[in-house]
Amino acid sequence: MIEVKNLVKKYGNHLAVDHLDFQIKPGMVYGFLGPNGAGKSTTMNIMTGCMGATQGEVLINGYDSGKIHVCNEPVFFGQTKTNQYIGYLPEHPPLYMDMTVREYLDFAAELKGIRKSQRREAVDEAEKMVKVQDVEHRLIRNLSKGYRQRVGLAQAILGFPDMIILDEPSVGLDPKQIIEMRDLIRKLAENHTVILSSHILTEIREVCDYILIISKGKLVASDTPENLELLRNGASSLELEVKAAPETARAILSTIDDIDAMEMHSENENLTRVKLETKNGADIREAIFYAFAEEKCPLLEMKTAKASLEDIFMELTQKEESNDAGNL
Ligand code: ADP
Ligand code: MG
Repeated sequence: MIEVKNLVKKYGNHLAVDHLDFQIKPGMVYGFLGPNGAGKSTTMNIMTGCMGATQGEVLINGYDSGKIHVCNEPVFFGQTKTNQYIGYLPEHPPLYMDMTVREYLDFAAELKGIRKSQRREAVDEAEKMVKVQDVEHRLIRNLSKGYRQRVGLAQAILGFPDMIILDEPSVGLDPKQIIEMRDLIRKLAENHTVILSSHILTEIREVCDYILIISKGKLVASDTPENLELLRNGASSLELEVKAAPETARAILSTIDDIDAMEMHSENENLTRVKLETKNGADIREAIFYAFAEEKCPLLEMKTAKASLEDIFMELTQKEESNDAGNL
């Protein structure tokens, strides 16, 4: 269990993490979703004790990750309680190019405080899980990006910590490798709590049970993918096609309560498409039907516009993106 409380990180005057509050409970796959520069990596670095916070705290099973262990370079895992509880694949995994895969994982196992008698088995298991046994004697320098990413992941899962945090695990991988990475994450999720970050919605949508949308360092939404979609639908959205001039359609609709906003497009004098937002998710379909019927304006079509997770993501983060163009 991780509790992030009132977390703030400033780089100079730049507020990268802006009072974040959330909890991570065991047994689920969490997704940090946000555009580039949103503060995902910073948050993960603080959660894993790799970086200090400006303000606030991160409690890992009741221990404070920042106070117990803060590491700077280049090896981030240590023999601390929190680091044994969490495995971390940072955005840029600190791989040692002149080591073989096996040497690197042995070394990582030692740093993680895995007992000597258990190290061989732990490395074997991690290698098997991410399928790098075949290349265990190759130098990391000579591996493809996909294999390097797997070695980074092997390092994170060494010793099978309860929780695994993966920062943009699919970045730079080709489509086949992305699918393999996704399968791996699903497999890990069977026995671990997993947190992964991504700026790619589909990736998060596919593997996560719970989504935290972060924008400009702030948590702008957090819920299951299904509930996020429902939430948006509650506030939304009908599309009509009506055999009437736009002014007539507008006049008729203005007699109905609970309409928040309307947008009209007329194909010709006598055909208008209307998009409207309802207040508080009110169901006004019947009222619309009768209002048009009374005025003898045939309603040719009426449908609820279902918001996709993509709409929600765009809506919540779009305004911020232009300001962050420098980070893309
Ligand atoms: P994300 O992982 O969501 O892309 P980051 O946590 O990397 O976001 O960055 C959040 C913000 O903090 C960005 O605006 C980024 O430019 C800035 N930032 C990140 N690291 C540093 C740093 N070491 N020094 C100064 N600014 C930084
Ligand atoms: Mg990042």
